[in-house]
Amino acid sequence: MNTWIEKAPQLDSQDPVRSFRDEFILPGDTEPYRYFVGNSLGLQPKRTAGYVNEVLEDWGRLGVMGHFDARHPWFPYHENLTGPMAEVVGALPDEVVVMNTLTANLHLLMASFYRPTGSKERILMLGDGFPSDRYAVMSQLRLHERNAQDHLIALKPRTGDTLLRHEDILEVIEREGASIAMILLESVHYRTGQAFRLKELAEAAHEQGIVFGVDLAHGAGNLHLKLHDWGVDFAAWCSYKYLNASPGGLAGCFIHQKWAKDPQTPRLAGWWGHNKETRFRMDWNFDPIQGADGWQLSNPPILPMAALRASLEIFHEAGMDRLRAKSVQLTGYLEEGLRSLGERVSVLSPTAPDERGCQLSVRIEGAQADWIGRFKEKGVVLDFREPDVFRLAPVPLYNSFQDVADLVSILQGILQES
Ligand SMILES: *Cc1c(COP(=O)(O)O)cnc(C)c1O
Repeated sequence: MNTWIEKAPQLDSQDPVRSFRDEFILPGDTEPYRYFVGNSLGLQPKRTAGYVNEVLEDWGRLGVMGHFDARHPWFPYHENLTGPMAEVVGALPDEVVVMNTLTANLHLLMASFYRPTGSKERILMLGDGFPSDRYAVMSQLRLHERNAQDHLIALKPRTGDTLLRHEDILEVIEREGASIAMILLESVHYRTGQAFRLKELAEAAHEQGIVFGVDLAHGAGNLHLKLHDWGVDFAAWCSYKYLNASPGGLAGCFIHQKWAKDPQTPRLAGWWGHNKETRFRMDWNFDPIQGADGWQLSNPPILPMAALRASLEIFHEAGMDRLRAKSVQLTGYLEEGLRSLGERVSVLSPTAPDERGCQLSVRIEGAQADWIGRFKEKGVVLDFREPDVFRLAPVPLYNSFQDVADLVSILQGILQES
């Protein structure tokens, strides 16, 4: 334990992305908290206020002329976000658009990609995933006069297991594939931190003629994703978790080129998805923009886009490959520290770095909800799920190895007291 703790300063000094911590406002009263809940709400970049203020000032100065004359004109504002957002998820720029919020985008994407026909009509998803995805899927089934009982296949771990096994998912796709129309999988399980092997699952789905969609809420800005190369059909994600783009910030949306470029791909349309050259002729006929932009409904809110622009710039500067490399090391360091604390502490997340993101879910024997308060008094913010699971997310952009060392020694103190 002591030699483990002593490694932190050296690991920090060797960290090639350590300077990005200074780009963020670290919450705290006298001293910054060791903040381990970037999987829930990412921190505010220092440059965000300036970007948001620029929009406010231009609106004040220019009124409607700001659409074209603002320092960053509002008419094409969302296009500033497309390139850096595409980098974050490994997509081509015209496969990505920033719009709406996550669950709203899931609905829009399912309107395009859940197309039950004949006996190929079921949806495969996690049995214990995030509730919003489940509600969205169940309501889509109803919209198509299907029901969860017959048409939803829910993946569950084997009895006694916490994690799903990759081969079990493949086996379900193989066995039930003929009746499955669409898969909607969370790239990282929000509770266990398990990351799924999206490339292989997309391939298995396609062999059976199944459309493969992903919810990247816990994947975007966390994993090194390659949506285009992996052949994922569609994806959506929020920007307020790992992407640090403000509470409830605007969401991302990915539609693979093979669908996005085809004007025949069905969709729920709005005027902002219409050909930009002729949009203001106010034609009756919808002529979609080629690419993911053709799924936009409304003229977008510029203020939250300004916040997202600030945070995506930081991702571009740091680079997902460097961030992921640090993340693997940082989470590995945390795991090593936790394992030194004895039998009361067990890590539920997968051990293999390529089967998890930065988050470790940890069961602590005898832990209670009020421990959150005890941690906070000692300067640590983390997340607790009943009955005894903590979720710890060391984020490579702003968490240091010293944060992790402090967390583990504070946990050790609490364990000794109770
Ligand atoms: C955080 C999260 C959501 C939240 O949905 P919003 O529409 O952004 O409120 C949905 N699904 C998953 C898997 C999440 O992790």
